[in-house]
Amino acid sequence: MTRYYQPEIETAPRETIRALQSERLVDAVRRIYNNVPFYREKMQRAGVTPDDIRSVDDLDRLPFSYKQDLRDTYPYGLLAVPLRDVVRLHASSGTTGKQIVAGYTRRDLDIWADCCARALTAAGCDENDVVHVSYGYGLFTGGLGADGGAMKLGATTVPVSSGNTQRQITILQDFGSTILCCTPSYALHIAEVLHQNGLTKDDIHLKAGIFGAEPWTNEMRRQIEEQLGLKAFDIYGLTEIIGPGVAFECGEQTGMHINEDHFIVEVIDPETGRVLPEGEQGELVFSAITKEAFPILRYRTRDIGVISRGKCACGRTLVKMSKPRGRTDDMLIVRGVNVFPSQIESVLLSLGYPANYRIVVDRKANNDSIEVQVEISNDVFSDTVRGLTDRGRQLEDALKSLLGIAARVKLLEPGTIERSTGKAVRVIDKRKLLD
Ligand code: ADP
Ligand code: ZN
Repeated sequence: MTRYYQPEIETAPRETIRALQSERLVDAVRRIYNNVPFYREKMQRAGVTPDDIRSVDDLDRLPFSYKQDLRDTYPYGLLAVPLRDVVRLHASSGTTGKQIVAGYTRRDLDIWADCCARALTAAGCDENDVVHVSYGYGLFTGGLGADGGAMKLGATTVPVSSGNTQRQITILQDFGSTILCCTPSYALHIAEVLHQNGLTKDDIHLKAGIFGAEPWTNEMRRQIEEQLGLKAFDIYGLTEIIGPGVAFECGEQTGMHINEDHFIVEVIDPETGRVLPEGEQGELVFSAITKEAFPILRYRTRDIGVISRGKCACGRTLVKMSKPRGRTDDMLIVRGVNVFPSQIESVLLSLGYPANYRIVVDRKANNDSIEVQVEISNDVFSDTVRGLTDRGRQLEDALKSLLGIAARVKLLEPGTIERSTGKAVRVIDKRKLLD
């Protein structure tokens, strides 16, 4: 039986959601215009006033917001309420440059927790579950985000945070955790340490996992599900919009439902800024229309995805977004060819390699090169030199046919690549150091 946390919204008719979005957008535009000088000036430069925005149909008249805007106004310049009304600050993990800060009022935290509670419910969580949160707690939104959702459901929350993997295993066993929340790369590391302890999925009690904060492929999903004995659900979000819970996967595992009553999505052509029709791939743009402290309109996420409004068998009417294939910033341009790390991950995992890999891009004498370094499993490691060479070639061929350019392959001993407890670093672009 499908369960929802807020069925009146999650399964509402499209017109109801649209009307709610319009009403909230009009209100958000007014609040922003009146309370944030930075946005007021931006709107004035674009020649729009709050009176021009009457419904979601007018959304594309508003100027975009960029990460740079958050940096230029760091730390408090975009707050729409006085600091005394802000009860919490979070900061992005700074994967790509200087950190940015987001503020939350009490009501913002409440809404955020609702969004995460919807995600947890979709994964089958209720008050009988023990929710093991191994996202980092702190300025990063992962830990406290998932925690807030679990609290809403009355589940038993275990705020382990990330790291100390040996201890995570003990807790998983002893506390009987049923739901695991962490990054997908950390989930695989937990599985690895579990096995190193001579244990298997049958020695723990997990039934579902909610994994996000970084791109991951369906091949990786299968590995996690198999090794930890659970059903793996994707969750998407970013600090600028609220944190995890902007969108969440249901049991169908065919995309993430966007919490549209709080976040309006658009997909645009990143070059021209033109809004693309449903089904076309482009940059995801979000407007957070209910946040009080840190409302943000038409934020350019740089994440690449597709949205679909097709009916979902789970009964939710909220629009779905595909797994983001990565950010425009992660996209590597090697000898003029666009390469997403997630494409490489798909090839590696479908050929049976573990998700312990690194992509090294370099430039020598104006010639770009790409090297894929991947660990091999223990049984393969004992292969003959000849066997290993053949394997490397086979992988090089597979990469070449997928990417359209040659990539060198380097097979590494098990355990060589540093394990991540949060967001995994997959790419080392040495060309950046040369610029
Ligand atoms: P930072 O920008 O420093 O990494 P955040 O923690 O706010 O800080 O990260 C948000 C970003 O993480 C998103 O814009 C997206 O690129 C990535 N992300 C989050 N969840 C997912 C997911 N489920 N799949 C792919 N990427 C994700
Ligand atoms: Zn669904």
